[in-house]
Amino acid sequence: MQRSDERIAILGVYLNSVNYEIAIKKVIEFTKSDGLKIIVTPNAEIIMAAQKDKKLKDAINSADLSLPDGIGVVLASKILGKPLEQRTTGFDLMMMILEKARDEGLSIFLLGGKPGVAEGAAENIKKKFPGIEIAGVHHGYFDESEENEVIGMINEASPDILFVAMGAPKQELFMTRNRRKLRCKVAMGVGGSLDVLSGKVRRAPKIMQNAGLEWLYRLITQPSRFRRMSVLPLFLLKVIFHRK
Ligand code: UDP
Repeated sequence: MQRSDERIAILGVYLNSVNYEIAIKKVIEFTKSDGLKIIVTPNAEIIMAAQKDKKLKDAINSADLSLPDGIGVVLASKILGKPLEQRTTGFDLMMMILEKARDEGLSIFLLGGKPGVAEGAAENIKKKFPGIEIAGVHHGYFDESEENEVIGMINEASPDILFVAMGAPKQELFMTRNRRKLRCKVAMGVGGSLDVLSGKVRRAPKIMQNAGLEWLYRLITQPSRFRRMSVLPLFLLKVIFHRK
């Protein structure tokens, strides 16, 4: 297994070999250090997209923490003979960060999802983590001309941690492009997590998650993902053929 904390490259995209304990420790360190730290959670689909999108690849590779969010990525690391410690999902790390934020008095901001979704997620987060400070929320449907206004709103709310739930590559590019403008300590891309937190979308049952079958659950419940997910076998083939 890779030494904890080591970075490995899969098709040119870097990932950290960490477990949740190390990841959360790092996040707490980030909240105490200077400047913005960015967390990304690539899965096989995102690594494949990064093959054709240099900006996305550069955004992931310049992040401060890159978590393998998917069984495909862990499998690929094994094929390459550099096994990552484990799959670490953005959703589960987000839950741990929320708990720590509540305990340590760190405020959060939720950015992303359709109008109303971040508000719904905030309500449920407050129920699950009573006492947590939610500095603000904003939907994720704005164009680049409105970006500075949204950033102004975030900075005004002055959160410690910003969750960006706009899907890949939008969220990775937004965080990287605005690294110097965003005045918070941590920004993390969390994909569809606000949809789950708001109750709009359900996560796979634990038994399927533990069996590495979350992708199958998503495919069954959201068949429109078929095209997106069909890159998975291609991804593994590419990894096998690029193995040295
Ligand atoms: N989204 C957004 N702005 C956009 C496009 C998407 O806020 O311009 C949101 C969308 O509403 C959804 C999330 O981004 O909540 C992407 O979810 P998806 O399940 O595709 O992300 P994944 O978890 O697979 O990365």
